Amino acid sequence: MKGNGKVIRRILVYRNKEDREILKQTSEEVTEINNDIKNLIQDMKDTLHSVHNGKGISAIQIGEPKQICICSWGGEEYVLINPKITRTRGEEKYIEGCLSVPSVYKEITRYQKVWCTYTDENGNIKELAEGGRMSDIIQHEIDHFSGSCKVYTE
Ligand SMILES: [Zn+2]
Repeated sequence: MKGNGKVIRRILVYRNKEDREILKQTSEEVTEINNDIKNLIQDMKDTLHSVHNGKGISAIQIGEPKQICICSWGGEEYVLINPKITRTRGEEKYIEGCLSVPSVYKEITRYQKVWCTYTDENGNIKELAEGGRMSDIIQHEIDHFSGSCKVYTE
C-alpha cells in the first residue's frame, strides 16, 4: 500500500500457515547497509508507525529474514542491525503482545536490563544499555531472528 511516499508492508500473521513457515525462518546477519537495506528499514518504520501502539518489529515479520529490528518506547526508537546481547541483569515479568499474533497477550519473564552491541542505520557500531519495557522489547524482537517468539501459540 502506498500513500505519501510511505510503504506499509503486510505484517505476517502466525496463525496463517504460509506466513508461519516464513516467520519460523532464521534471519541472517546484514553484511552491507546498501540501498535495499535502507529501503527495508524505511518500510519497517512506516509499517510499525502505521500500527496503533506498535512497539517493535523485526524484518522477518514483513517477510525479510534479516537481523534488523526496530524498538520503540517512551519517545525513543532504536534501529538495531545485527544486535547481540552482551550482558544482562535481573529478571522482570512483562505482559507482551506481538504484531504477528493479534489479540494474544502473555506474561513473559525477561531480563530486567540488557546491554547490547549493534550496528546503526549509518553503519556505526554502537552499544546500548536499557532497562524496563525497552529491554523487554529488545529481547522480544531479537527472539524473532531465531524464528521464535514467546507470544506464538504452538
Ligand atoms: Zn513477536
